[in-house]
Amino acid sequence: RNIHFYPEAPCSTLRTALARRFSLKEGNVVISNGADNLISMVANAFVDEGDEVVMATPTFPVYTNTTQIMGGIPVSVPLKDFTHDLPEMLKRVNRKTKLVYVCNPNNPTGTIVTRKALDDFMSRLPERVILTLDEAYFDFVDDPNFPNGLGYVKKGKQVIVLRTFSKVYGLAGLRIGYALGREDLIKGLNQVRDPFPVHRLAQVAAEAALKDRKYEEMSIRMIRDGRKYLYRELERLGLSYVPSQANFILIDFGRDINEVFEGLLREGIIIRPGRIWNYPTSGRVTIGRIGDHRKFIKALKKILK
Ligand SMILES: *Cc1c(COP(=O)(O)O)cnc(C)c1O
Repeated sequence: RNIHFYPEAPCSTLRTALARRFSLKEGNVVISNGADNLISMVANAFVDEGDEVVMATPTFPVYTNTTQIMGGIPVSVPLKDFTHDLPEMLKRVNRKTKLVYVCNPNNPTGTIVTRKALDDFMSRLPERVILTLDEAYFDFVDDPNFPNGLGYVKKGKQVIVLRTFSKVYGLAGLRIGYALGREDLIKGLNQVRDPFPVHRLAQVAAEAALKDRKYEEMSIRMIRDGRKYLYRELERLGLSYVPSQANFILIDFGRDINEVFEGLLREGIIIRPGRIWNYPTSGRVTIGRIGDHRKFIKALKKILK
């Protein structure tokens, strides 16, 4: 009924709900049109021409292009054992470094950096450098060594945590995500925010999703069960994979990934082929519902035969 009105610009109701949920102040929360858009906002607010931005490779590609659009220089540090190489990333931090991205769990590998590794990294990172922790897959983690980025925000560190309604709440089509951080950092993000970034339907859906703990639990259980099911089936097929804390698995099919990709496509299944990450025999497979997994394994058996 209210669709002819502009939406609430700062998403006030949702912002209050998020602040309550995380025991933060409203000033620690900014909501926008998806975490992708928040990554742009981080670059727009904090990256100037010639600034260096340290990140892993492969990781989420949006960090690179948003940095380049602002004239910043992405400094990419290869993963080690499919995980962020924080000691090596620290070595690449210098006087020109403005920002560091840590995608935790990392997309496309599903691996995490541990609390100990991140604490160590933080204790050596110059205080003027902003750490952006992309926690799009936060809810699917079950490793007790995972560091909740919120802890750093509450300690007043120069840290921005990104989260989204796209993954655990299944609202990717509505485009809504948020950032948590110290008030001065969030103020910086608000200064580059679009005037009305999130439309009414997305705001209402996100508020409802946040209250629907049953759905959240179901979604998390489905992903964790799906991971286990796929691990078991992949082991039976003799395929190796990177154990994942996210809602996808990086699988080594042991042959040219393009062949596997095309074969699966013919069966109506689309995966992300790994050539772009220099993993020529691997692909990233998203965890879905149990019926999807059965269909995937059946198609895979046919292709590998
Ligand atoms: C999916 C994803 C995002 C983007 O989420 P949206 O809220 O849908 O824009 C950000 N970061 C990572 C690592 C992701 O995988």
